[in-house]
Amino acid sequence: MQFKELSRYFEVIESTSSRLEMTKILAELLGKTDEKNIKKIVFLCQGKIGANYEKTESGLGEKMIIEAIAKSTGFTKKEIEKKFREQGDLGLVAEEFCSKKKQSALFSSELTVEKVFSNLIKISKVEGTGSRDLKLKLMAELLNSASGTESKFIARIPLENLRLGIGDPTIMDALAANLLEEGKQKKDWIEKIEKEMKEKKIKEKIWKEEFERRLKLKLREKIEEKYNIYSDLGSIAEILKQKGLAGLKEIKITAGIPIRPTLAERLNSAEEIIKKIGKCAVEAKYDGFRLQCHKNGKKIWIYSRQSENMTEMFPDIMKAMQEQIKAEKVIIEGEAIAFNESTEEFLPFQMTIQRKRKYRIEDKTKEFPLKLFVFDVMLIEEENLMEKPFIERRKKLKELIKKGKTIALTKAIETDKTKKLDEFFDESISKGLEGIIAKDLNARYIAGARKFAWIKLKKSYKGELTDSVDGVIIGYYTGKGKRTEFGLGALLTGVYSKKEDLFKSVAKIGTGLTEKNLSEMEKLLKKISSKKKPARVESELKPDFWVEPKHVIEIRADEITRSPIHLAAKKEGKGLALRFPRMISIRSDKKPEEATTEEELEKMFKKQTK
Ligand code: ATP
Repeated sequence: MQFKELSRYFEVIESTSSRLEMTKILAELLGKTDEKNIKKIVFLCQGKIGANYEKTESGLGEKMIIEAIAKSTGFTKKEIEKKFREQGDLGLVAEEFCSKKKQSALFSSELTVEKVFSNLIKISKVEGTGSRDLKLKLMAELLNSASGTESKFIARIPLENLRLGIGDPTIMDALAANLLEEGKQKKDWIEKIEKEMKEKKIKEKIWKEEFERRLKLKLREKIEEKYNIYSDLGSIAEILKQKGLAGLKEIKITAGIPIRPTLAERLNSAEEIIKKIGKCAVEAKYDGFRLQCHKNGKKIWIYSRQSENMTEMFPDIMKAMQEQIKAEKVIIEGEAIAFNESTEEFLPFQMTIQRKRKYRIEDKTKEFPLKLFVFDVMLIEEENLMEKPFIERRKKLKELIKKGKTIALTKAIETDKTKKLDEFFDESISKGLEGIIAKDLNARYIAGARKFAWIKLKKSYKGELTDSVDGVIIGYYTGKGKRTEFGLGALLTGVYSKKEDLFKSVAKIGTGLTEKNLSEMEKLLKKISSKKKPARVESELKPDFWVEPKHVIEIRADEITRSPIHLAAKKEGKGLALRFPRMISIRSDKKPEEATTEEELEKMFKKQTK
């Protein structure tokens, strides 16, 4: 495929303000893409040049891209920098300068998707002496051959900021739409859907449309099931292109490829928990960070909650995976927390978090050794354990671990008595832990979903909501008064609607932001801001700048109220809103789609009014 054609599609997607329209255009693009290019194009739609979990940093910063634009157009760096300061988007800057190149492009040729992709991969792989020049050369070579529109996207890709606003659910919907005809051959699905529709008395006039909508949902569900256990949407799209629906069977849980984490529901008391799941395992809730550790022989991979590869950050855990795990091939999960072995004390989160770093890893490993408290196992050798009940997985996990100083099982009891659960909760709190997580003994490992397989019970915050809300930043207001210095005065945030794949406004936040926060945040948001509302955002409030839903922040509030100005979980003209919201932290470990959902917010609201 010519890169020109792909850019044309990107251009239309970028300008659409409706998520439905975006899905349609994307389905058309993916439908006409051949086997050779589908994986690459899906990665590009995700704003990357590899699967989500792969490290594909280009090593090309804004400065180097400016240099490459200068090199390929004949304009001076100064001229380009000036424009960048005004525009704030290197893509637009590249578009402008590349469409009025001063020098004739001597070696220019038509760009294909393969050529662009291959240069970008080379850029991300070169290391060592001379790598800077080589990266520059490869980038300039692309810009040299690119038209204005093409350069806009080429310049944005290395910054992992394509500004298309496509989320993974939109890609999955587009893939599902292209499988519709094949889905119509699935007799059992069709019968079930038709039966449900008859029961619901769907009218003749909208029958076909509704039938196709439901069938697409079913197809999407099948794709998502696989994406949950195999975080590589490019490869999934490729296999669908090659083999159609039947290809999905070939996608299996694999050591090295992250599984989307299972998530916990919340309840307010031991009584509610026992009433809901009966006899259960109750585990201490450690306040560190979640790691998914994979091993295949000598190779170890460590992934964050968001499936980012963090292997190099944790040499102590890598070593322990070799020494303390009695199997060649495994996938286990646990919470890593800084721990003082001699006093047997858990260190506060602020210390644990210092281990998430790219530099001075060895020093910090000595200063804050981690202990990994493992709580689940999904694969041992060739056996996929995800479908097995929790109690069986726990037994296997116990047998898997050799005694040692870094990896240990989570502390747990089994009980159906509220009194015992409460005692265990109090004991955990007194040790400086966060609370407990109760686990349904019969539940399978439910990848990527929040179900009652796990229930968290945290210390309650008197007079406030029992849990914080994770909101996604969807816009910001430039400050008034003193705050104008920072270019940012308040944030507009939203919660996620899983059903509609939209972000709906829930709170405008002006407090909780320190001066340092404000200026850092402004830098972060400026890069993804625009005067146009992103297609996946719904809000009646109009901020000074919209931002692409990307950053998640933890918000505490006094209560959830009904409000006519916000759109989350809207009923009878009123949405849900947070009263006296304040920002607690930036949740860089969460994707926007992992923020609090509309449904969760509604549950929290009901619990509070009860
Ligand atoms: P969530 O993960 O539910 O979206 P969150 O990231 O805000 O929300 P918490 O509300 O703190 O996390 O609760 C779940 C998290 O608790 C897990 O993702 C995991 O990191 C951590 N955790 C600590 N101890 C355990 C344990 N024993 N079992 C499972 N998870 C645990």
